Amino acid sequence: MKGKRNLKVEAIEKGTVIDHIRAGQALNVLRILGISSDFRATISFVMNAIGARGKKDVVKIEGKELSVEELNKIALISPTATINIIRDFEVVQKNNVVLPPSVEGVVRCTNSKCISNSNEPIKSKFSVQQSEEEGVTLRCLYCEHVISENIAENLL
Ligand SMILES: [Zn+2]
Repeated sequence: MKGKRNLKVEAIEKGTVIDHIRAGQALNVLRILGISSDFRATISFVMNAIGARGKKDVVKIEGKELSVEELNKIALISPTATINIIRDFEVVQKNNVVLPPSVEGVVRCTNSKCISNSNEPIKSKFSVQQSEEEGVTLRCLYCEHVISENIAENLL
């Protein structure tokens, strides 16, 4: 253990620690990762922790290393998040989340007439873009509808 500053991140023996999550988004991070009551690993999280760069949320998943593809979905709602892979209480890998080029079955299209909102068994699909002015924007691959705000509110 390296001292107090890293205690929050290194306090698990092995697993995944998602750090620097935008404050208040921890529950949405669990949601975007598809973590629900049937998930077997031990999960803990801190909301509104005081970090060096202001308030943040932290999510710890014990005994499980999630895939990069899974974790990158977090960038949709918290582009500043970092992923720490822990083994033997040490951070063996640390990465920033990277926006995926597209996402499937993660966000609901806000166009109610979109085929992905119909009774057809069609998963939503969006291409993902990021611009300075608008931030993260999603374009529906079925109806071209663009979502640039409220991504967190439209998670499936
Ligand atoms: Zn659509």
